Amino acid sequence: MRKPMIAGNWKMFKTSQEANNLVNTIKAGVHSIDYCDIVICPPFTQLSSVISLLDGTPIGLGGQNMHFEKEGAFTGEVSPVMLKDLGCRYVILGHSERRAHFKETDSIINKKVQSALSYSLVPIVCVGETLEERESGRAQDTVRQQFEGTFQGIDVKQFEKIVIAYEPVWAIGTGKTATPEQAQEMHHFIRSLVEQKTNQEIASKIRILYGGSVKPENIGELISKEDVDGGLVGGACLKAQSFIQIIQGTVEDNAKV
Ligand code: PEP
Repeated sequence: MRKPMIAGNWKMFKTSQEANNLVNTIKAGVHSIDYCDIVICPPFTQLSSVISLLDGTPIGLGGQNMHFEKEGAFTGEVSPVMLKDLGCRYVILGHSERRAHFKETDSIINKKVQSALSYSLVPIVCVGETLEERESGRAQDTVRQQFEGTFQGIDVKQFEKIVIAYEPVWAIGTGKTATPEQAQEMHHFIRSLVEQKTNQEIASKIRILYGGSVKPENIGELISKEDVDGGLVGGACLKAQSFIQIIQGTVEDNAKV
């Protein structure tokens, strides 16, 4: 059984007051929801205040990034131990914005994935092709390459703790969503990569989220696809109502085997 998951990536948005307002409204809207795992990933500056508001709710907290070292002279960075210390259970790794603007390579992301797992953080690992790669027929090659680099050396037993997010770069923040068929095709491909790396049982358990302009209007169709297990949501998670509606949109999809 794969329980749907909706994770909200706040990116570099929300001051303290805005964060408190957003979380309080989300809390009120999702308090009785048990059919979907809900995760919110505020900026580092808001983690501490947000976790105090999440007590007694089903909402998990995640970081948007981390360094792979436990501590050290890495000015401006945040470690897995610090995320754990603040109550994070998840961390987004390898987001395309980190890859593009901060030059994160698959090998750096691989170190982060290993580190997150060793500190019992659930990594939400992003892969996805650019428009140029899709249009030239290289979407699967790109995703395979990212997959192999990012998950190199990960122990089979650790693998089922990982969440993968397929985020086509051309769909992030653009309003262009992959069609449910395009998403399904890539998710199925990613699941086959997981199976080759691990086994059928783990491949059938691992959650693969779709990310790229997810909205209340398209979550139902996306999640109705066999291999789509939820969403990593950017823009639409910044407004409580749209985030809540996306979570509610997973309700029909509560029994994937
Ligand atoms: C994201 O940032 O991971 C994302 C998918 O953004 P958006 O939903 O705005 O496309």
